[in-house]
Amino acid sequence: MMGGDPLLSGFEDSESYEFETRAIRAGQPHDPRTGGVVTPIALATTFAQDAIGHPKNGYEYARTGNPTRHAYQACLASLEGANYGHAFASGLAAEDALLRQLSPGSEILLGDDAYGGTFRLIDKIHGKMGISNRAVDLTRPELIRDSWSANTRLLWLETPTNPMLGIFDIEAICGIVHDLGGQVVVDNTFATPYLQQPLSLGADAVIHSATKYIGGHSDVVGGFVATNDEDIAEELVFIQNAVGAIASPFDCYLAMRGVKTLPVRMDRHCENASQISEMLMSHNAISDVLYPGLSHHQGHQIAARQMSGFGGMVSFRLKGGRPAAETLVVNTKLFTLAESLGAVESLIEHPAVMTHASVAGSALEVPDDLVRISVGIESISDLLSDLEQALNFIG
Ligand SMILES: *Cc1c(COP(=O)(O)O)cnc(C)c1O
Repeated sequence: MMGGDPLLSGFEDSESYEFETRAIRAGQPHDPRTGGVVTPIALATTFAQDAIGHPKNGYEYARTGNPTRHAYQACLASLEGANYGHAFASGLAAEDALLRQLSPGSEILLGDDAYGGTFRLIDKIHGKMGISNRAVDLTRPELIRDSWSANTRLLWLETPTNPMLGIFDIEAICGIVHDLGGQVVVDNTFATPYLQQPLSLGADAVIHSATKYIGGHSDVVGGFVATNDEDIAEELVFIQNAVGAIASPFDCYLAMRGVKTLPVRMDRHCENASQISEMLMSHNAISDVLYPGLSHHQGHQIAARQMSGFGGMVSFRLKGGRPAAETLVVNTKLFTLAESLGAVESLIEHPAVMTHASVAGSALEVPDDLVRISVGIESISDLLSDLEQALNFIG
């Protein structure tokens, strides 16, 4: 079982096994009563106490702590190289829990390309609570010093970014921000801990939309925060309990089931995305392909250094502009027109209108000739033919 305080979900043995092994075993002992090899879905909302105020195994009420959640938290924390992990009801609930640690008057710097919902949460919800934000071009980390003010507390970044697939140098950015006395949060949703571990590059906290690659099968909404900072961890345990946006036992079970195959899925996502990016590069309807694995990509060198693979997300721009983008996304057969990403099936979408409408008019606005695909793990030949036949509709 996990050592230490179960509410902090520490996983002490994380160093002794390789990633693939920990994905399957970390935090998931066999059921001591039956020998069952799968962590049970623990549905109990309350737990017997030996005496007043003396819960048997540290569990008293399921919002505060739940065994399935703790197993999942220990597993994913281990994969991020974190001492502490905290599961929430969605990626945005996880982000909200982290943002609640800021007091009114604080300012957040954020990368000028980010998931639309993250910007909406920071700007529209936390903005009302007296927290301001400013976007900065993180491809030039030296700009952080100019944008930093006496009230800036936090720098928030994604890499690769959604949907422009921008790459930022986590280590360089953390060095500058720590110099300035701030903290860095990295949204690691696109890379997953299999390809990139931001804490080892200096980040103070990592967040995930577990809805994407962690769950991996488009059947669970979830969020996660991993950290080695004990103060942040304690505050997150408090917020899980005090606010209550926790992940349910069934959702934790599904996410943990997904994590077991994360390494093999990511290998295939990367391989398929790489082949598709090459095909798109040579297609004459396309003006640019945004994939960090391509040598012409702005962040290719940094990605090659800080990631062990380039991921399964590819964006590209069409010479025919918005009409061409709109025609393409309705003519694929295997690539399903849908929001979200990171699951076994391939998806296609038009970010300016679908996932990123909430950033229109802001510094984070995305071009309307852009199409984003989430490359699944189907047969690469089927995926290539599907895109080729759909591209024929735009000439
Ligand atoms: C989807 C997503 C989120 C939000 O997560 P939810 O689980 O949908 O709340 C945050 N960041 C990124 C990069 C995402 O793709």
